[in-house]
Parts: sequence; structure tokens; C-alpha cells
Amino acid sequence: MIRTLFLLLLCTFALEAATLEVKKWSKGETFLTFLEKNKLPLKIYYDLAREEQELATEIMSNVDYQILKNDNDEIEQVMIPIGEELQLHLIKEKNGYELTTTPISFQEEKLAVTVEIKRSPYEDIIDETNNYLLAHEFIQAFKSSVNFKLLRKGDKVVIFYTKRTRLGRQFGAPKIEAAMVEVRGRKNYVFSYNKGRYYDANGKEVEGFFLSKPVNYRRISSRFTYKRWHPVLKRYRAHLGIDYAANRGTPIRAAGNGKLTYVGRKGGYGKTIMIRHQNGYKTLYAHMKGYRKGMRRGKWVKKGQVIGYVGSTGISTGPHLHFGLYKNNRAINPNSVVKITKSKLTGKKRKEFFAYIKQYKKDIEVALNDYSNPSKEKDFDYIVSLDKIAEQPN
Ligand SMILES: [Zn+2]
Repeated sequence: MIRTLFLLLLCTFALEAATLEVKKWSKGETFLTFLEKNKLPLKIYYDLAREEQELATEIMSNVDYQILKNDNDEIEQVMIPIGEELQLHLIKEKNGYELTTTPISFQEEKLAVTVEIKRSPYEDIIDETNNYLLAHEFIQAFKSSVNFKLLRKGDKVVIFYTKRTRLGRQFGAPKIEAAMVEVRGRKNYVFSYNKGRYYDANGKEVEGFFLSKPVNYRRISSRFTYKRWHPVLKRYRAHLGIDYAANRGTPIRAAGNGKLTYVGRKGGYGKTIMIRHQNGYKTLYAHMKGYRKGMRRGKWVKKGQVIGYVGSTGISTGPHLHFGLYKNNRAINPNSVVKITKSKLTGKKRKEFFAYIKQYKKDIEVALNDYSNPSKEKDFDYIVSLDKIAEQPN
């Protein structure tokens, strides 16, 4: 719907020789510096609701964004992605600019690939698909359960995955649905299940665990919402984390082992720390009063280690911790990962899981079989898309 609107607007502007530029959001750029740089009124930012100022803080560096200008070189529209499904949409109206949050349109393709090991799974997957993000995700998915050093030439890898494309380019990391790596003839699997977490063929989760809560809180003052349409405000509302209201100065603990990737002020988030964990996970801690001594970029921290203290810096109405969790740079609900205390699926969930993976296991066999007998008729619809991969540069 939004895409149609945009195309429609594009057409209107085309008459006035509008130009559409695709740019990269530079490192350290904030929504405010962006407005400043483009001589747009800073009021646009200051007029935003608290949640939207927080959202504007979620813009990732290096993301592609679009600027539409008219022939007087005035900005008519700007579209900046927030995560993989939402974008900030700035539109010039008669009485100034309006900022809204709209869904991003993208194409989704389901693909499959079979790779024979020649050098290493990482290099061989890239050779076959030209997709280094896929190779990276594959390594992340298996690195805690498979010793890649044991691989031999001729071992095989099968990956079923979903790839998103926006503006003709891959958008975000591909999502692995199911994958198999043969190590000296023995098959190892991962399946994406339960909101994108990875499980082996026995229903055991292959990733590490996070703390159940990063702070001793009094109450949750704001929950995680993603792309929720607000019928009264008639706009998309999103809050990409959990707000834990707590007393000023309460210690904040690292949710898992990892490396600090950011220590400093970050737009509406105020004093912020970001930690990179295993398997493509990142956590974010915002509105801090201060950091614990010695916290600096590059430092390794252990799960449960105090990293800072609850405060109210940035855009905040009272002392609280905004806690964000990201998988491959996509904000996910911390509760979906943090609250789970069991690493193994049990009962009904386990039954459902086995039913779910049955078809994938069959499909993997078909893919392996097709690979060894290329002349054989392919009775497997994923394979149809395979040719497309080679054509698409990433
Ligand atoms: Zn928040």
C-alpha cells in the first residue's frame, strides 16, 4: 500500500524532474545531524513523541536510505529504514515537514543451495551463491555444534533460506530455515524454530543463553512492539526494546558474554552501551546514569557483570533501563529469548517441532540426491530459484 503511494508520488514528481538518490547512513550520524546537514528544521525531531525519538535512534550506520528532491534541490521525501520492516518517512507538506513511520516494502524469495566442500564452508558458500551474509549466517548457526576443522573435501552442505530484496539489492541478512552440514559422512542439522532460534535435529537449542533480566526492576514501563498499527493515532507504533523502571543507580548487568561495541551517548537513548554476543546477537542498554569504571569499546564482559547504572539520560521521563536485543541487526523481543530457561523443547512443542522438521529433512535428502545426479528430474520446487542466485550480485 505504502509502496503504491510512494510510486504515485514519484510519478507526480517525475513531471517536475525530481531526483531520487540512494545514500548510505554514515557512521556516527544521528537523525539530528542529518537534519542539520540537510538544512531541515530541527523542530522535526524535537516535535516527535518520546517513542519516535527513540526509534530515530535505531537508525543503523551503513543502511541505504532514499532522498527525493525536486528541481529546486529541495527535499520532498526521505525514507530511512529502522530495522528490517519499518522506515522513518519524512514528507514535505504545505505547512512544513511531517515524519511518520511506515512499513518497508521488500520482496522475499525462498531459495535452496547445495555446496560441495572444496576449501572451507565459508568460501565455498560464497563461491556458489555470491552471498557472504549467507555464508556468515551459516557459520554462526553451526559454530557451537560443529567442528569445521573435521570437514573433508567432498562433504556437502545444504541450506534452505529466505532472502529479502529491496531496491534490487539484498536487504538484511538472509534467514536460514534449515541447513545441513555433512562432516565425514555424518549429518548435522539446524532448524530455525520458535521465533528464529536454531535447534538441532533432537530439538535442542544450539545457542547460548542470556540472563533472564539485566536489571532488578520495579516494573516494566514499556513493552516490545514491532510494526503495530495504532488505530486511534492512525500510525505505526514501535518500541524496539523493553523499558524496566528501576531506582536511579541500580546496577545494570551484561545479559551475556560479549564484547562492548559502543559506549557513549546515542541520540534519544542517552548514555548507551552495546554488546556483541555470539551467533549474531547484540544487546543495547540505554538511558544510563553512568558506565561502570573501565567500560570502553573493545572490552570483553561476562554474563552478569555490572556494566553501568540506571539513569534517565537522553529522552526519558524517569529512571529506567531501555533494553534492546538484536539478531543480525534486527530488533527482536527480548522476552522471546531471555525468558526461556529450558534449552530443550519438551512436550507438545517438541512434537510439533519434529513434525515441522520432517519435511525439511526429506527436502535436504532430495537436494543431496539431485546434486549427485544432476541429470535427474528435479521434483523439488526450491531448486527452481537456484539459477537466480548466481545472477544477483550482493
Ligand atoms: Zn524504551
